[in-house]
Amino acid sequence: YEIRNCDWSSDVCSSDLTKSLGYLMIKVKKRKILLLPGDGIGPEVIAEVKKIINWFNDKKSLDFEIDQELVGGCSYDKHGTPITDEVFYKALESEVIMLGAVGGPTWDNLEFSKKPERALLKLRKELKLFANLRPAICFKQLVDASTLKPEIVSGLDIMIVRELTGGIYFGEPRGIKPIENGERKGINTHTYTTSEITRVARIAFDLARKRSNKVTSCEKSNVMEAGQLWKEEVQELHEKEYKDVELSHMLADNCAMQLLRNPKQFDVIVTDNLFGDMLSDQASMLTGSLGLLPSASLGAKNKDGEMRAMYEPIHGSAPDIAGKGIANPIASILSFAMALRYSLDLDKEADILEKAVQDVLNDGLRTKDIMSEGMKETSTSAMGDAIISKLQ
Ligand code: NAD
Repeated sequence: YEIRNCDWSSDVCSSDLTKSLGYLMIKVKKRKILLLPGDGIGPEVIAEVKKIINWFNDKKSLDFEIDQELVGGCSYDKHGTPITDEVFYKALESEVIMLGAVGGPTWDNLEFSKKPERALLKLRKELKLFANLRPAICFKQLVDASTLKPEIVSGLDIMIVRELTGGIYFGEPRGIKPIENGERKGINTHTYTTSEITRVARIAFDLARKRSNKVTSCEKSNVMEAGQLWKEEVQELHEKEYKDVELSHMLADNCAMQLLRNPKQFDVIVTDNLFGDMLSDQASMLTGSLGLLPSASLGAKNKDGEMRAMYEPIHGSAPDIAGKGIANPIASILSFAMALRYSLDLDKEADILEKAVQDVLNDGLRTKDIMSEGMKETSTSAMGDAIISKLQ
């Protein structure tokens, strides 16, 4: 519990009793948010997220405790490693990690273990972030930014759930080995177990219940045993626990084709690591701009029932525009909206943040990457300020 002076503008202080006492005793659970801005445009876009978090703290009496640390190339420059043990342990203790982006040409020639991306892989692996959620939403105001016809993408709202810690990217044996005749053989192994499949499928079904109640599960069950197991396990889970959700199975190559032909047929797509990597990139391009799309990586719950999670924009560090103040912060801000919804159980706050972004786009404000004729070009920080004034 904490004793606080009354903030007369806040809802919790509106009663006569608190007014007459002048202070308030509130049950406080500090929600720890670790900001890892990273490299390139990362610090520029995460600065806007920080403003938004501070707004929620000030105006909505929320109790987010913010910490900020180096990760990626900037950590290598200062400490000789892309992530220090201290930062890694802070990440383990944080309920929410907000990442900007890591990497850039400065660090391209480092040995593999020192590369900025190693920090991300370590976090994803050690925090057991097994489900990657990538919404592909086509804002009606930006329909022309897509390479597809407006009628195909207008109103698009798909959620791709990609398994993130299993499958061919992690399976053993792996490697490159010499074989006879002086040739070499590259080996990767695609494996999935029942529990790896069902835990990610469960996330997809739960999400579908909050959306349009439809899941499409994608694999290659026609040519891969692991794909056959995937299909069977998803089907069994559906019959046992999620009969109310509409489930269909689709071969991953057909899904790639259907995403271009008629993307609005999908609600939630759940698929493995390899196919999810490709299908989510493909789906993101339906919407036209990298600068707009958020993502969440969700992990297993700890013994207190708290889930570890990392939220980040899908774009990279964009070295070509870093330091110019023109990066689009919307993907990062919408990533924070996902954190409000999926980690912090603050659906109402997530709704008003997403609405504020829509309102700013309705007003014709655009960063350079989404600029079009008749709109008003704005900087990274002015975009953040405009979103805050809509929240206000
Ligand atoms: P990128 O996403 O950084 O940039 C691709 C293009 O999109 C660039 O022209 C860039 O200017 C533009 N762009 C990206 N985000 C933008 C934004 N918010 N606002 C406006 N324009 C934006 O991809 P890349 O150029 O292939 O990679 C650059 C670096 O980022 C590489 O070192 C790569 O390894 C790294 N990367 C990191 C992550 C991550 O940290 N999760 C993801 C992808 C790439």
